[in-house]
Amino acid sequence: MSKLKVVTDFIRSLFFRLVLLFILIGIIPGVILRAGVLNSYEQRAVSIKTSEILSQAKILANQVVSNDYLNNTESMIINAELEQLSNIYDGRVMIINSSFRVIKDTHNLDTGKSILSKEVFQSYNGSDISKYDSESRYIELVTPLMQTDGKSGEKNAIGVILISVSTDSIALNMEYLDTNIYVIQLILSILVVLFAVFLAIQIVNPFKKMSRKIDEIQTGYGDDMLDIRDYTETIQICEKFNALLGRMKILDESRQEFVSNVSHELKTPLTSMKVLADSINSMGDAPVELYKEFMGDIGNEIERENKIINDLLSLVKMDKSAADLNITNLNVNELLEQILKRLQPIAEKQQVELVLESFRPVIADVDEVKITLAFTNLIENGIKYNKPGGRVRVSLNADHQYLYLKVEDTGIGIPEESLEHIFERFYRVDKSHSREIGGTGLGLAITRSAVLMHRGQIKVYSTEGEGTTFNVRIPLKYIAK
Ligand code: ADP
Repeated sequence: MSKLKVVTDFIRSLFFRLVLLFILIGIIPGVILRAGVLNSYEQRAVSIKTSEILSQAKILANQVVSNDYLNNTESMIINAELEQLSNIYDGRVMIINSSFRVIKDTHNLDTGKSILSKEVFQSYNGSDISKYDSESRYIELVTPLMQTDGKSGEKNAIGVILISVSTDSIALNMEYLDTNIYVIQLILSILVVLFAVFLAIQIVNPFKKMSRKIDEIQTGYGDDMLDIRDYTETIQICEKFNALLGRMKILDESRQEFVSNVSHELKTPLTSMKVLADSINSMGDAPVELYKEFMGDIGNEIERENKIINDLLSLVKMDKSAADLNITNLNVNELLEQILKRLQPIAEKQQVELVLESFRPVIADVDEVKITLAFTNLIENGIKYNKPGGRVRVSLNADHQYLYLKVEDTGIGIPEESLEHIFERFYRVDKSHSREIGGTGLGLAITRSAVLMHRGQIKVYSTEGEGTTFNVRIPLKYIAK
């Protein structure tokens, strides 16, 4: 076996597919879960931090306004608060006045500069704005400094507080979480792979067992029955396999029986010839008449041998597939007339009356040689197994689908227990009688095979001592399957 074949065989195997399936089922959810856990942790951590800072910012905003910090940035309390806030959250706090100028920056970088960001503008409308930048790892928060107008009572933004804090701690937590999940996932994956292999071996095992048992049966060891009861499927396969095995055994037995029958039948005339030749030879100077008589008998035996061989050849031809049929569109009435004409001398010799009754013209798709053989055998049997003064009546009819042939005789009939055997090869009700009248026991087997090849049917009805009727039905149109 080539390496490539080994690999493709492995990939195509149930074992490999099961392992793959279990691994996918076991590992994919873990990967998705890991991404999901990390993502939701990040969102949750950012939202908690944002709302925490926002509430601090709001308190601060109130203090800034109430202390008029915009006009007096020297306020010690506010400055201390601002520093504390920026220290706690590892961030930067800026106070921006209504002219967008930074009046306080805890990092002392942008004091006095103007800030014209979108978030600052939006916050001037009175809303809190927050923004999370996961790449640069910071949260930016802008909350307005609202002052209530003494006269109208309206609230106006007189500035904003801008806070930006680093989210390094969240990222650090996430990294820690990620490593932990990764380790757990790795351990789980190893367990999943081991479990998948174990489970796949268990599932595939009955099939392996089955293959081994079939090998044993093939080589002749072990039982003759396959019995793997692990799954309903294996039980069903075993039942089907055993049925097939049974059929094969029957076929083998019938083949062996056929071969032994053939040898026996072919040997009988040879034995007779040998006996005849030996006895004439042992006589020394026997009269010429005796020689002639013995030679005549030997000639008859040769003729019989010839007939058996011919019948066997016909049977072998019938055993071939339907593809060997040579179908032509045939006038069956004419065909029967010819057969009867040919059999007329034999019938006359037996003093049997031969009658043909055609109910309508019948044209059918049939193999002329095979169907002639089949019909001839039936009519000839009617003559052969008849009594002097008896009759054989052949009638032909048809409907739109089938032709019907009936061969009815007033002969000796067939005992009931023999009826189911007469189509078997070499079966004869009365061996010596059949032999006497030149039967081989193959005629009806040939007939049945020919009829079945045409997808037809043959039935027999008989009463011992009164006569026999064969009914044949053949489709007018031959449909190859
Ligand atoms: P055979 O060459 O012996 O005639 P067949 O296969 O044609 O072989 O027939 C098998 C046996 O069936 C015959 O030996 C005979 O005993 C019986 N049989 C067949 N046809 C008839 C019939 N029309 N009437 C009585 N017996 C018959």
